[in-house]
Amino acid sequence: MRAKVDPDICTGCELCTQTCPEVFEMQGDKAVAITGDVPEEVIETCRQAAEECPVEAIILTE
Ligand code: SF4
Repeated sequence: MRAKVDPDICTGCELCTQTCPEVFEMQGDKAVAITGDVPEEVIETCRQAAEECPVEAIILTE
């Protein structure tokens, strides 16, 4: 699974970086996904971060 943040939608609330810091990191005022393939052990928390994003800026692809 891959994760991507749409920078045009992200509001920089930092929630995803707290929920799943293994994948998401703040760069300036936007979150970015720092991994290519999401490691197996953090897939669940990555999905949770995507579900909890208030503006649905996180795109997950298989
Ligand atoms: S939770 Fe969504 S809006 Fe908040 S920083 Fe992450 S991608 Fe951006």
